Formats: sequence, structure tokens, C-alpha cells
Amino acid sequence: TAGKGKIVMATVKGDVHDIGKNIVGVVLACNGYEIIDMGVMVQTKDILDAAQAKGADLIGVSGLITPSLDHMVAVAKEMQRRGMSTPLLVGGATTSAKHTAVKVAPEYAGPVTHVLDASLAVGVASKLLGTDKEAFVAETRKKQARMVEQFEAKQKRQPLLPIAEARTRRLAIDWTAAPVVKPGFLGTRELRASLAQLSEYIDWTPFFHAWELKGRFPKILDDERYGEKARELFEDGQAMLKTLIGDARLEAKGVYGYFPAASHGEDLVIYQGEDRTQERERIPMLRQQGELASCLSLADFVAPSADYVGAFAVTTGLGLDAIVADYEKAHDDYSAIMAKAIADRLAEAFAEFAHEKVRNELGIAKGETRDDLIAEKYQSIRPAFGYPACPDHGPKEELFRLLDATSATGIALTESMAMLPTASVSGLYFFHPEAKYFSIGTIGDDQMADYKARGGKAIGLGAL
Ligand code: SAH
Repeated sequence: TAGKGKIVMATVKGDVHDIGKNIVGVVLACNGYEIIDMGVMVQTKDILDAAQAKGADLIGVSGLITPSLDHMVAVAKEMQRRGMSTPLLVGGATTSAKHTAVKVAPEYAGPVTHVLDASLAVGVASKLLGTDKEAFVAETRKKQARMVEQFEAKQKRQPLLPIAEARTRRLAIDWTAAPVVKPGFLGTRELRASLAQLSEYIDWTPFFHAWELKGRFPKILDDERYGEKARELFEDGQAMLKTLIGDARLEAKGVYGYFPAASHGEDLVIYQGEDRTQERERIPMLRQQGELASCLSLADFVAPSADYVGAFAVTTGLGLDAIVADYEKAHDDYSAIMAKAIADRLAEAFAEFAHEKVRNELGIAKGETRDDLIAEKYQSIRPAFGYPACPDHGPKEELFRLLDATSATGIALTESMAMLPTASVSGLYFFHPEAKYFSIGTIGDDQMADYKARGGKAIGLGAL
């Protein structure tokens, strides 16, 4: 078919997430575009070689984790170096119109457009390949110029505290007020759960987000505008869940553990033994540097002397590739995407299940309801590397070593520290009642230099 145009799409190198990209691909294909989907973890060179060899009219790059933002900048730079003029579309969960304007577009003289979701992709593609292309590109450039101005103005308005000053505003927990939470054993243990068991712990709200329906479950099922679509998706999701539980090709595997620990400034130190003489891992953390009453660091939640932290890694993605491949062979892209979306839900459910087990073991689960569980209203947090309180993906390496996670669960880390299978979750546990989630936000050059000197790898700190 001649079609409306040829689009090369790929998830950038180091990233394994493709639900959003696949939905966009299906929608564009349904609208008459020829899609050349290169899959996940695709090197910049391979994306651009294919686009040039096949004469692509558009190139779409996608990613979910923050390190992918840097790779998108690299794609734009390489397109410029090659003297290309093909429009570049940027999409995926951590991408934003702002990041695209401030970091990606300035690297490439050709058109660069952020695509928020699949429903907007068709409109953007048709504009870029239609007669009003010039007007659309000019308008996009103008909007992007404005975003750059706003970004720079905001940066000037919000000066950061020097890191030394931020440190004086640390959260000073009174460690004598309550005894530290002491685990009943030290070291790692296997986590076991059946998919049926885990299905009870699913938070369905993000399921609808994966399908680009914004709203909360179960209210969304009765939404005036989206209710019908939501009910259909929910039914299909339930059916897929049943299939995955029934045919037992998907496997859940997990590991968790408790370790003697202490904080040294912003370093979280994990020790070999209770005597805390021999360091096992040292995980550098960051601290908020904004003009705040308390400038938080996750390290503040761990006592500077004798404390403990936990760690976990869980997956429900073992066997998923074969299931997805079968659906794709049968040209059932919808079920292929649905299977991935449900596997992701089960992985998060496994993390919730494990966390509950940990709170019960530690005796810190008190009167929690099911709603509290979904809302994470309980004592103890499970920050995940790459998220706002610990935005560096780098320490997943230390975390995985601590848990021997790859041999225990089969989860591997990519060069960008994405977990493979995709349906995997990992993180640390902090037990103190004051431990909570927060966002590090922008950090200064002074802290970045200090962080790197402490061994910080700073992978994926480019999000705006
Ligand atoms: N029930 C949701 C949970 C995932 S999002 C689901 O099924 O998808 C919430 C998780 O993200 C938290 O448990 C924690 O692991 C991580 N998280 C959220 N905010 C965070 C922050 N500010 N810093 C670090 N991790 C965070």
C-alpha cells in the first residue's frame, strides 16, 4: 500500500518499554500510515540507518525511563550530523513538551515535535505530512521557543541553596524517641506468590493510564465520556488476567532481604554484619536543594548509627515474551499489548504484596484496610531508583548485588539500568514512621560534583 506515509518507530537504546509506542503504532497503522517498528533497545545508528534506507517520512522515538531522555537528545544530534531533515517525533512517559523544547529540539534543525499520546499522534503525523506542514512546524517552533524562555526565566527565579546550606536543613529525626525497627532475620529470602494471589493486590487505576484513559478506578467505569471504553478495557483486562493465571506460562519470582545499615551524611551504608565494621555497599543519595523548610534526603530516614534497611526485586515477566510473540504471530496486537499491561500490573501487585508481608513480619502493620494498601497509607516506604526521591538509576547495580537479584529472580539490568523483563519492580525499604516519598527536584552543580565524588553514577538525571 502506498499509504499516507512511512514512519520508523523505536524505543531508544537501553530502554525496554513499548506499551505506549505499540499503541501509537496500532493507531497510526489503522489510520493508513506504514509503520516500521524496530522494537526496543534500538541503537541510534540503527534507527537512523533504517529511516534513511527506507526513506521514512517521520521518525518516532519512544522511552519510559529517564535515561532515555538523553538518548533522544543523542538521536537529534546524530540527525543533525547526518544532515537529515525528516521530522522527529518524541513520545513516552517521562518525555514532555518542555524537555523536547529545551533539550531535544535545539540539537536538530529539522522539525521536532513532542507527541503526548496516541490520540494526538494521528493529528501530528497528518499535519507533518500534509499541506499545512510549514505552518504547523512554524507554530511548533514558536511554542518551543516560548517554553525555552519560560524554563530559563523559572531557573533564574528559583535559585538553589548551596549544598552546605541544604545540609543544615536536613530532617533531624530524634533517634532516641523510638527504637529502630529491627528485622527478625538478616540477609535475603525468596518471595513466593501465585499469580492468582497477586491479582488480589492489583491497583487498577494505572491500568487505565497505560491505555491513555485518565481517571481513577472504579469511578472511571461510570465516567460519562470514557466509561464505555473503560468498561470494555476492564473486561478485556480481566479476561487476559484469567488467561495468564490459567495457562501458567507466566512466572512470578521475587527476592527480599534485610540488612544492617547506617547513614553517613547522604550515603546509605550497608554492612556485612551487625557489628557494622565491614561495609558491604555504599549507596550515595541526593538531597533537595530548593528553598524548603526541610531539605530531604532518603538517607535522613536511616539512623547514623545502628539501623536497618530492606530491599526487594520482583518480576512477573518471566515467560511473557513467548506469550506476546504468539499473539503477534496471530496478528493480535491488542492482546499482545494487553498481556504486557496486565503483567506490569501483576509486578506492581507483587511489590505491594511483598511490602505487606514485610510490614507484617516487622510488626509495623496496624489496622490497614485494602484502600490504605492501594493508597500506600502505611508505615514504611519502598522508593524505587529512578523515581523522584532517588532519581539516579545507577544504584540499581548495588541493589541487585545486595540481593543477588539476577540469579534469584532472572531480572537483568540494561545499559540504562532498565529492568528486563519489563514487568519488574525493585527498590529499598525504609521503615521509620517519618519516611515518606518526596521529589529531589533540581540539584546544583556543587551537589552534582560532590555526588559524583561519592561514587554517584547520575544515570537519567536529565528530566526537567
Ligand atoms: N500501586 C501503584 C504503585 C506504583 S507507583 C501501581 O500499581 O502502579 C508507586 C511506587 O513508586 C511507590 O511504591 C514507590 O516504589 C515508587 N515511588 C513513588 N514516588 C516515589 C518517589 N518520590 N521516590 C521514590 N519512589 C517513588
